[in-house]
Amino acid sequence: MTEELDLSRRRWLKGGLVPLRPTNCLPWSVDWFGFTAGCTRCGDCLRACPEQIIVPGDGGYPIIRFSRGECSFCGNCVDSCGQDIFFDKQQSPWRQLASFGDACLAKQGIYCRSCQDVCNAAAIKFKPRPGGISRPELIGDLCTGCGACVAPCPVQTIAVLCQE
Ligand code: SF4
Ligand code: SF4
Ligand code: SF4
Repeated sequence: MTEELDLSRRRWLKGGLVPLRPTNCLPWSVDWFGFTAGCTRCGDCLRACPEQIIVPGDGGYPIIRFSRGECSFCGNCVDSCGQDIFFDKQQSPWRQLASFGDACLAKQGIYCRSCQDVCNAAAIKFKPRPGGISRPELIGDLCTGCGACVAPCPVQTIAVLCQE
């Protein structure tokens, strides 16, 4: 058992605790309070996700872990769930954007474009910097929050952050 999971279980054994809102919730899920009120923690969504990016979070409630891969927006997690805790899949699945941390190699003057290479939405650009190494910049209107850029970053400095 990981230290994170162990801590989570111990918190819950004490009882009465509200699960911590994760950095990344499931796509199309209702607000965290409503989600945890309806989710039975059955694990069906974990098994339904072809990318295997859904894991048990605080209290066993499912969360997204982009270090394992990206969301393809297949909708299987929503379809697998018997509870009324997701909204219409015709709508945008979430409002979250990639963010590049200070450990970024390019910000440290080392050439790297791993994030741009994997972004199918072309949401990451590198503007030329005369006399310096270009740094990643996000085009927010294009970023889908899919998380594809997270795992390939060699220094794990990309986070996909909720904008709500
Ligand atoms: S939409 Fe598909 S890929 Fe994304 S979390 Fe749900 S099951 Fe996984
Ligand atoms: S992959 Fe990571 S280190 Fe490389 S440019 Fe993108 S944010 Fe920086
Ligand atoms: S989260 Fe997805 S769309 Fe946004 S920058 Fe990363 S790879 Fe591109």
